[in-house]
Amino acid sequence: MNQSAYTVRNEDFISEIQVVCPKCKSRALVSGGQPYKNINEYELDVQFSCIACGYTVKYFNTPKFSLYTNSKGKEYKSRVMFLNGPYDPYFGFEVWYSIDTKFGLLWAYNSKHLEVIENYIGSTLRSRNGLEIQNNSIGSRLPQWVKDSKNREYLLKIIQRIKI
Ligand SMILES: [Zn+2]
Repeated sequence: MNQSAYTVRNEDFISEIQVVCPKCKSRALVSGGQPYKNINEYELDVQFSCIACGYTVKYFNTPKFSLYTNSKGKEYKSRVMFLNGPYDPYFGFEVWYSIDTKFGLLWAYNSKHLEVIENYIGSTLRSRNGLEIQNNSIGSRLPQWVKDSKNREYLLKIIQRIKI
């Protein structure tokens, strides 16, 4: 079944995120992410690994952010996820599928995510087919220039280029 941009969110694609290895610039993977769960429940499973150069990082070894300090001076720390940007939400590494278009940046967490965006751009009707729009769905988040039909051909060509 084709996933519709109106029923899925960016977050649905975080279990396997293709990123640029910060050491060797090859395509690498951030795995273990779980959509719609508190990071504390699965942080042991999240890791970065690059097959090309062997670099790996476990998420639980990364530093926690200081959230606040209470009146008794006790510091509260946690790990914070940064969703909906062109980097993985755990380590902040740049996503592999990131394209500078003349309108702005188009990005995806992985090839399936890119496919949903591509299908969305390519569909001539953009109809919701009676589907209820999910809050924060990909379709509701994409910028207007992605939705503009006169940019369709240009954007689809660019996507073809980075899919290889
Ligand atoms: Zn590498």
